[in-house]
Amino acid sequence: SKAEVYGLRRQFLSPAMFHHFKDPLMVVEGNMQYLYDETGRRYLDAFAGIVTVSVGHCHPRVTAAVMQQSKLLQHTTTIYLHPEVAQYGKELTDRMPGNLKVAYFVNSGSEANDMAIMMARLHTGNYDILALRNAYHGLSESTMGLLGHHTWKPNVPQGFGVRHLMNPDPYRGMLGSDGKAYAADAKAVIESATPGQVAGFVAETIQGVGGTVELAEGYLPAVYQMVRDAGGVCIADEVQTGFGRTGSDYWGFQNAGVQPDIVTMAKGIGNGLPLAAVVTTPEIAATLARRLHFNTFGGNPVCAAGGRAVLQAVDEDGIQANAAKVGAHLKEALLELQQRHDIIGDVRGRGLMLGVEMVRDRATKEPAGPETAQVMERLRHLGVLIGKGGLYGNVFRIKPPMCLTIADADFLIQAMDLALSEL
Ligand code: PMP
Repeated sequence: SKAEVYGLRRQFLSPAMFHHFKDPLMVVEGNMQYLYDETGRRYLDAFAGIVTVSVGHCHPRVTAAVMQQSKLLQHTTTIYLHPEVAQYGKELTDRMPGNLKVAYFVNSGSEANDMAIMMARLHTGNYDILALRNAYHGLSESTMGLLGHHTWKPNVPQGFGVRHLMNPDPYRGMLGSDGKAYAADAKAVIESATPGQVAGFVAETIQGVGGTVELAEGYLPAVYQMVRDAGGVCIADEVQTGFGRTGSDYWGFQNAGVQPDIVTMAKGIGNGLPLAAVVTTPEIAATLARRLHFNTFGGNPVCAAGGRAVLQAVDEDGIQANAAKVGAHLKEALLELQQRHDIIGDVRGRGLMLGVEMVRDRATKEPAGPETAQVMERLRHLGVLIGKGGLYGNVFRIKPPMCLTIADADFLIQAMDLALSEL
């Protein structure tokens, strides 16, 4: 029973692992965009784990690939060659623009970002890394040092050699939506807080945990140029924005009109399998080859086979076009809800990566954190699971498996409308 499971969890699992909801939800089955609890009740999953189930829970293609590979060969480490990972490297980089043609597979987004930072430092011979306030890149020792906010207590110190830049947040940022003005701040930081030479700049192309924040227009192209002028490389964290989630492009950086030197990916890449990757140029990859590197599970046969199946599913199921179509429908409906509910301060995002910021007062933008939590609880009881985030925990994050239908979107909107009306 659920009570027994909860008892085991309380006794034997770390209390540090947090759950959503006062009465934690137990799920026992998943099928595409739906999850089922132990009583058989169905929920619309509008958060996809945390933006991880890209093509659908237990997608038949992914399940079949994993099962088939599990019977053949499950493990090699990187010390032996196996066919799946090589083919996967080709198929993944075929989907990347320019000379982003070399992949290194790891197991989580934190690991991918650790490796990207190491690559940037090795390749440039510089040390300083520029990161955005309000960013999230993982919770390993080094990626925690990139966190530019204090959601995690005790306050995590800025990592050694990390410099934070003002967040180019059009809704809450100090400089409004002026991308060029934020870029000027980045220039000032390079001039005043680094030796003038930097190793790199890392940013999510739409901030995820930070509350679906789209960076002010023109910011990324300007900063990419500055960073390169200062001898650094540009890292795009596509852990949440990749694999067609933004609808319009396969990668979030394409929305911003930039070409990174290093791209990190995780979550949606494996549809739930522990899989992540760092993709870079042959030149940067060659620098890393000067140093012995290895990863026990990275690119293991089972995850590589699953990752290949995810790529096929994205293409064959028309996942990206669906993200564009259903995402646009959902955003329009959310904007309409905003007309009727004063508590909605902002609706933003692209494709199936949407954010709804809740405020007590539209002029002061006072965050409506408790109300956000209350609506999220109520939605669970109405059969809809969504996420929340942002610096003040007042932003709904809607990032479902990308097989979401228009009917699912309408169901979600009706539930939100009801929950907001009850506040
Ligand atoms: N980068 C981004 C943008 C993320 O959202 C996350 C996870 N929320 C990470 C990195 C870290 O990934 P992981 O939890 O797999 O280490």
